[in-house]
Amino acid sequence: DRMNIAIDGPAGAGKSTVARKVAEQLGYVYIDTGAMYRAVTLCAQRAGISADEPVKLAELARSLKIDLEPGEHGQSVYVNGDNVTALIRSREVTLQVSHVAANETVREVLGVMQRHLAARKGVVMDGRDIGSHVLPNAELKIFLTASVKERALRRHREMADNQTITLEQLESEIAERDRLDEQREISPLICASDAVVMDSTGMTIDEVIDAIVKLSRT
Ligand code: C5P
Repeated sequence: DRMNIAIDGPAGAGKSTVARKVAEQLGYVYIDTGAMYRAVTLCAQRAGISADEPVKLAELARSLKIDLEPGEHGQSVYVNGDNVTALIRSREVTLQVSHVAANETVREVLGVMQRHLAARKGVVMDGRDIGSHVLPNAELKIFLTASVKERALRRHREMADNQTITLEQLESEIAERDRLDEQREISPLICASDAVVMDSTGMTIDEVIDAIVKLSRT
């Protein structure tokens, strides 16, 4: 029987790569919920709406049609038909997204979309509050972590323009994003009580993927 798999954890723990590959192996659909928060953030920036304008932000979130389409190199993201896949990874969006994600209506609107996408089962969904809030009945929940040093190092390595930001700067930005995600009032980053905790610090991506696929078959 098809199941839903929730993969939560702090920034840069490898959730998206792991979730995508697990979905591939199981023939499931991968859903990157961080991309949805990023898409709302990009649109807010384009519209000149800041994170401390909750009413405008809520209105914006309700007006957006967000589509996730699986592609060869991961998932493409569309907002009202506009391909924003690359744009939502910008540093401006990354620095702002946790502030936007603290908005109650934004979370409600995206949460409804996420539950809808998972309604027929067979999804691997990665995020911060999937096991704890969005899909509390997911058959398998993983909480994927790694030390902040390790996460910063991995991110730094995969950045094409890693000359423009130092490892230390990246580490402090990741730590700040974790802090905001853990401390927000509505559905914060939290490990669900029934989640399997995996620390990937000393593991390869393939080891993490294999472990999760095994768990899904037991
Ligand atoms: O996963 P990613 O790092 O792209 O997520 C970007 C941001 O979106 C997170 O730092 C967090 O603020 C927000 N987010 C969230 N809840 C989720 C997924 C992401 O609040 N389920």
